[in-house]
Amino acid sequence: MKKSTPIIAVSIIVFLIPAYFIFNYTVEKVTNQILGGETKELAEYECKLTPKQREFNKGLYYTGPLIDTHVHMPVAFKIISTIAMKFGFEDMPAAVDISTGYINCLFDTEGIKKTFGFFIVPNIISRHAVNHVKNVEEKYPGKFVKFFMPPLPLQTLNPKSSQVKKIFNNNPGLFQGYGEARFDFNVGTNAHPEDEYFLDMYTLADENNLIVQIHPDKGQGEALRRLLEKYPHVKFLAHVMPDYKNEIGTLMDAHDNLYYSLDAEIHYIFGYHTIQNNRGPTKEEYLKFIRGNFDSVLKEGLRDWKQIIEAHPDRFTWGSDRWYTWHFDPEVSGLVVEFGRAFIGHLNPAVQERFAYKNAERMLQNQ
Ligand SMILES: [Zn+2]
Repeated sequence: MKKSTPIIAVSIIVFLIPAYFIFNYTVEKVTNQILGGETKELAEYECKLTPKQREFNKGLYYTGPLIDTHVHMPVAFKIISTIAMKFGFEDMPAAVDISTGYINCLFDTEGIKKTFGFFIVPNIISRHAVNHVKNVEEKYPGKFVKFFMPPLPLQTLNPKSSQVKKIFNNNPGLFQGYGEARFDFNVGTNAHPEDEYFLDMYTLADENNLIVQIHPDKGQGEALRRLLEKYPHVKFLAHVMPDYKNEIGTLMDAHDNLYYSLDAEIHYIFGYHTIQNNRGPTKEEYLKFIRGNFDSVLKEGLRDWKQIIEAHPDRFTWGSDRWYTWHFDPEVSGLVVEFGRAFIGHLNPAVQERFAYKNAERMLQNQ
């Protein structure tokens, strides 16, 4: 062996290590560009928004802190929103359209101290999607309670149970929830909450201490009851079960792992009562609707829910269900929050803070 051999070997190693990292970094950057990921510049959003003025400046009003327990975070990559829109989704903004920095700033101005945020993780780019979630946590520690959202109803993009398990194992503590698991989309084929796949998901939720956000379809109240019984240690946070409204209280009495968030169901951001022709309102239509009917919609929400909330003061939470691009418009957003605060202000004072944020905080204990 020549004397120079070790020197050459060492030089190669010295060269290869940085080359490896540079290569990886470049690949990551290029992939990010191709997929349409959030750039550093966007994530560095400079917060200059000011709180929106109240428009309905009369009556009882809650002014304390809020936790929004239902927000669909813009998807990590533009490619996912392109696929979803091709599939028939009305809208699905990506983080390049609405940055996490902007959302964080907007919510700060609205007095929202924490947000249950749903992050879609499609199988084909799961690693990148999970990295995006990690970046959000790094940038805004503790501000977003991160939920692993399956790309329903695009079931072909759903990660296999083993893949989800691996993600949870490799990223302990990154996710605090699973969902939204929605079973009543009006595009594609809906899954069922008791499909074997979802039973696996609830088991994973149990093992990883995750809250499950569930949106059953009409007629699936009984399925939810069976799940509450089968997974007594999993906290299920349900929403939008209009046909089951009268039974929710009874279900809560029987199962202390059931929570319920009131969001789009009371302020109709996806449409008043029904979504016409598979299409929700536009921004202008919604603003006109909520401004023209603020008091009557508030009255309706209180008529339907005040009593049951006050009878179960530890189980209900407030949320917005913001998802589409225009939902994050400061004018719309501000009105949705104003409506929520007016709604809370009309609850029994002993219940207001619990509904506004304390129940959400309690759900996160022992996480
Ligand atoms: Zn939902």
